[in-house]
Amino acid sequence: TDAKPRYNRVLLKVSGEVLMGDQPFGIDTGTLERTAEDIAEVVRTGVQLCLVIGGGNIFRGVSLAGRGMERASADYMGMLATVMNALALQAALEKIGVYTRVQSAIPMEAVCEPYIRRRAIRHLEKGRVVIFAAGVGAPFFTTDSGAALRAAEMGCEALFKGTSVDGVYTADPKKDPDAQRYDTLSYTDVLAKDLRVMDASAVSLMRDNQIPIVVFSIRERGNFLKVLKGEGVYTTIA
Ligand code: UDP
Repeated sequence: TDAKPRYNRVLLKVSGEVLMGDQPFGIDTGTLERTAEDIAEVVRTGVQLCLVIGGGNIFRGVSLAGRGMERASADYMGMLATVMNALALQAALEKIGVYTRVQSAIPMEAVCEPYIRRRAIRHLEKGRVVIFAAGVGAPFFTTDSGAALRAAEMGCEALFKGTSVDGVYTADPKKDPDAQRYDTLSYTDVLAKDLRVMDASAVSLMRDNQIPIVVFSIRERGNFLKVLKGEGVYTTIA
C-alpha cells in the first residue's frame, strides 16, 4: 500500500535461529538472502536502521555452561557467534547495494569497527545500516539485552523483534493449538506473566525508556516493511 513507515529510526533484532531456515544449524543462504532483501526494502524507504543479530544458530553459552565449562567463557563463544552472523548479514546486504557497518561490542579491529556510539549515529544519519555485534559485550547477557541497550543508545523509536512466530501468544503456538495471540501487551504483563518473548532485562530497559517492542514474523517475505507501516499481524509491547 501507499502507507508510510511509522518511524524514522528503528532497531531490528533478528534471532540467530531465523538464519538457520529449515536447517538444524548454521546459516541457510536462501534465508539469509531473503532476510537481506526485506531489510533493503525498508532501508530504501529512508528509515534509519540498526540491526542486532543473535548467535543461537551457531552457539549458545548455556549449551556448554554446566557441562564442565565456565558460563562466562561459554558466553564469550556465543558473542563470537553473533559476530559471524553479523558479517554474513553484512555481506548479503552489500551484495544488493545496501551500505553497512558492523560495530562489535568486543573490539576486533581487523574484522570490523569497535562500538562507538557517536560514530554509529553518524553512520545512521548517512543512511548506512549499522549492525551491532557481540551483544552488550559481557557474559550473562543475551543479544536481546544488546538490542535493547543499542535501541536506547541510538534513540530508536521502536525495537522490532523478528522471530519465527508472528507475535506473542498465551502459550507456545507450535505446541498448543489453543494458544491465542496478543495484539498488545504492557511491559509489566510480559514480566509478570513471564512470557519469555525477550529476556527480562531487555524488557525492563525498554519499559524504563518507553520504547515499544514489536514482535513479528520475519519468515514471510515483505513482512518487515508491512509491520513498520502498521499493517499485518504482530504484537506490540508498550
Ligand atoms: N551472549 C552474551 N552476551 C551478550 C550477547 C550474547 O554472553 O551480550 C552470548 C550468550 O552465550 C548467548 C549467545 O551469545 O547464548 C548467543 O546469543 P543469543 O542466545 O542471544 O542469540 P539468539 O537467541 O538471538 O540467536
